Parts: sequence; structure tokens; C-alpha cells
Amino acid sequence: MPAVIPAIIPAAVALCLGSMLLFSAYDQSHSFELVASARAEGLPELGEAAQSDFSPLMERRIGYALYQQMRATPEAYLDDPDVEDYLNALVRKLTRGVPSGNVDFTAFGVRDNSLNAFAWPGGYIGVNSGTVLAAQSESELAGVLSHEMAHVAQHHIARMVSTQNRDSWVQIATLIVAVLAARSNPQASQAAIMGGSAAGIQNQLNFTRDFEREADRVGFQILENSGFDVRGMVGFFERLQKSVRLYENNAPAYLLTHPLTTERISDMDNRAQQRPYKQVADSIEFRLVRAKLAIDMEPRDVSMRTLEATARNARTKVDAAAWIGVGYGRLRARDVAGANEALTQLQRNGINASMVDHFAAEIQAAQGRWDDAIRMYQKSAQRFPAAHSLRYGLIDAQLQAHRAPDALNGATEQLKLYPRDDRLHELQARAYAQLGKIASQHRATAEAYALRGQLHEAVEQMEYAQRAKDGDFYESSRIDARLRELRQQLVDERKQQGLN
Ligand SMILES: [Zn+2]
Repeated sequence: MPAVIPAIIPAAVALCLGSMLLFSAYDQSHSFELVASARAEGLPELGEAAQSDFSPLMERRIGYALYQQMRATPEAYLDDPDVEDYLNALVRKLTRGVPSGNVDFTAFGVRDNSLNAFAWPGGYIGVNSGTVLAAQSESELAGVLSHEMAHVAQHHIARMVSTQNRDSWVQIATLIVAVLAARSNPQASQAAIMGGSAAGIQNQLNFTRDFEREADRVGFQILENSGFDVRGMVGFFERLQKSVRLYENNAPAYLLTHPLTTERISDMDNRAQQRPYKQVADSIEFRLVRAKLAIDMEPRDVSMRTLEATARNARTKVDAAAWIGVGYGRLRARDVAGANEALTQLQRNGINASMVDHFAAEIQAAQGRWDDAIRMYQKSAQRFPAAHSLRYGLIDAQLQAHRAPDALNGATEQLKLYPRDDRLHELQARAYAQLGKIASQHRATAEAYALRGQLHEAVEQMEYAQRAKDGDFYESSRIDARLRELRQQLVDERKQQGLN
């Protein structure tokens, strides 16, 4: 799969150049903070590109800044904790097979039905919904992910920095931004594509092909080490190649610049042929996630027909997972009885997963039966301690039931474990709001904004918190200290913009 990784470096570099094009589509001026830290850590100005060095800490910072941008872009970020729980569980399984080890991966879904996945430095892996839907088996999806994880594990971005010249960086940057911008602003991306299609792109093609080959090879190893069917990788890449042909002149920009060659596919095929045939069953979660995504991402009537046919004719447990898609489709259409029937079918088929429990609780929630939903979430969260979706669902149901002290307690306890979870800060803010604690409410909202890199909004909320004056001494000191920090970050960011 073509890599979006080159995006990162050019991003930082083009910001140094003062090119606003890069993040204009997202309006993410907070990225300038990144440049400040990049300079502090010795990321070179363009002229010194050849001697550049990219520390793992720097990689992590850049990846995190990009991830924040993604989280703050609802058009692109696939905000479904069930999908995120699943992708991260799959990535954790694959991480055990990474030869070099010691990289933490964070996976997230991208709301886009085209076939794609990409890697950002520091271990951030984005997967388009279209990729999950197009994968015919879990091994295929695992193959795509392990290719992307290989780009990260092999530090391709860092290596790109030390070999790329300034012109090609800018070219790549332009193209990558075009791709990222396509969802939110088609016109901006058109302009960017035209601006970026100069000769400079050609300069980095060979380089990228080397990285692609290496990511294929290491990705294959990860897939094999993790117990998946290595033929899955080949099958998927063949389908991707066909989809590229289908696009012809309209191929997404970076598919054009990062061609999936016949050579790459036959290399992978050769490697796979040397391994004994191994049938690996799909996990039930893979099938559940696909069915839920089909309902949310494809035309409802079409996906309902397909899912209903699969569900009614299911001979195996994994095929019966299609019922969850049918159930969500009916629930969205306010057909509670129909949703309950789908739930019964899932249970009758012995499908035991956090997603099924989540769906069951959502049926109760849809009828305003909050106490029942709360009981279900509480029971289920104990059975599936790794499922974030159930904990968000529980706190939300407690808020809906006006049980603010319980919700506040839950959010606060979870934040001790996951202090960087912006969803938890938001839930905590809602609990404070119900309790009439205005200062704390704005402080929690500010933290949620800050975690998504929206510094301006974070400062504004923290100022509201300071003005509210209903916090105790401890809360007030905390607000004052955080406001100072956030203002300083904003000043640094603006200074950086002024320099450019
Ligand atoms: Zn790649």
C-alpha cells in the first residue's frame, strides 16, 4: 500500500518555509508549535536538510500533532470507539510480531470509503473505512496494517529526512496535503494537486519504491510472526492494483506517485508460496466491525439488503455477525423491535463480544431506559475490561439518567488511567455542568480542546473557568497554572506564525 509517511517531514519543513498551504485545508495553525519544538531539537532548516537527524522523540511529537489534527477534523476522523477498540486490539496482536520491537502503535479509523491506510511517525496508523470493508478476511486487513507498521518500525520518515532534498519535500508535502484535504474541501485539493504535479515528484519515486519494498518484506514478517495467513497480503494488494486501474486518470494523488508495481506483488506472492498453506479464521470482532461500518459508511438500503441476506443465510457463527449491521440499521430507523430481533439472533448464535453488549445497551438507551442501559454497561465493562466503548457508554448513560455524581466519579477514575483521553475530559465536563460546577466544567472542556491541539479554544475555556470563581482554592490554583501554560503555548505558536 502506498505510504503517506512522507507527509510528515514535508509538513514540518514546509511550515518552516512559511507555506500555509500545508495545513490550510484543516486550518490547523497549532502545528506551528511543532516547528518550535522541531527547531529546539535540532530539526534543520531546509538548507541543512542533508545532515538532518530525526530522534524517536521528534517522531512521536510529529505523529502526535498530526493525530491531534485528525481528532479535531470530524469529516475525516471516524469517531466510533467500537472500531477504534478493534483496530487497536488487532495492532496490539501484530505488535508482538514486529522484529525491532519497542514501538507503541496507535490505530484510528478514517471516514473514507476509498482503499487506503497510512503510517505517521511515532506509531500512528490510520485505516480508511473502505479498507476494512474491502478486506475479504482479517488476514488481509492485518496484512495492510503490518505493511504500515513496518514503515514506522523501519523509521522510514527519519531516513527520508536525511536523504530528501528541499524541492522534493515541498512537492511531496503538496501532494499529501491534497490527499488529506480531499474529504473536507475538494477545491483546495484540486488546486494543490495542480501545484504539486511538477517534476520534483519524480525525484523521490525510486526512493519511495525502496521503502515500499522494505515495508512489504518486514510487513510480511510481522504478519507471519503474528500467526496470520500471509497470502492475505498478496490478495489484498492485487485488489488494490485493480482499484488503481479502475480509477485511471482520477486515481488519488499518492497512488499515482507511489505505484503498486507488478514486481512488488509478485515478490510478495513468491514469498507467500514458500510458506505452507495456513487457514486462519476471522475473529468475530472483525466481522462485527465490518457489518457495523457497512451500515454507517455505505448507502443504507444497499447495505441492509446485503447484510440481511448474509445474516439470514449464515451457516457459521462469523457469518451471523452480519446481524449487528442489520440491528444498527434498524435502530437508526427507530425500529426497536427489529433491533431486538437482530440482538436475539446474535445471542442465539453464541456471539459473545463487547460490541454485542454495547449494541444491547444502545437499544435500551434508544428507548430512554437509562437504568437498564447502565446496568448492562456495568456488567459488560467487567467482562470486557479492555473495551473503551463500554466505559464511554456507561458514563454517557449515567449523565442521561441525571446521575451526575456517578458519571463524575467514573470519568475521574478513568482519567487517572487515561489522562490524555479527550472523550473522558468531555464526559467529565458534562458531569460538572450537571452538578453546577462551572469553573470545573470549563477547565475540563479546556483540557479536551488542548488534547485535540485546539489551543485557542482551550485558552478561551480556561479563561471562562477562571472567571467563574466557583472553584475551591485547589481548583482555582489548578486553573491559574494551566491557563498560564496554555497561554504560553499559544504565544509560542503565534510567534512561530509571525516568523513565517
Ligand atoms: Zn507503503
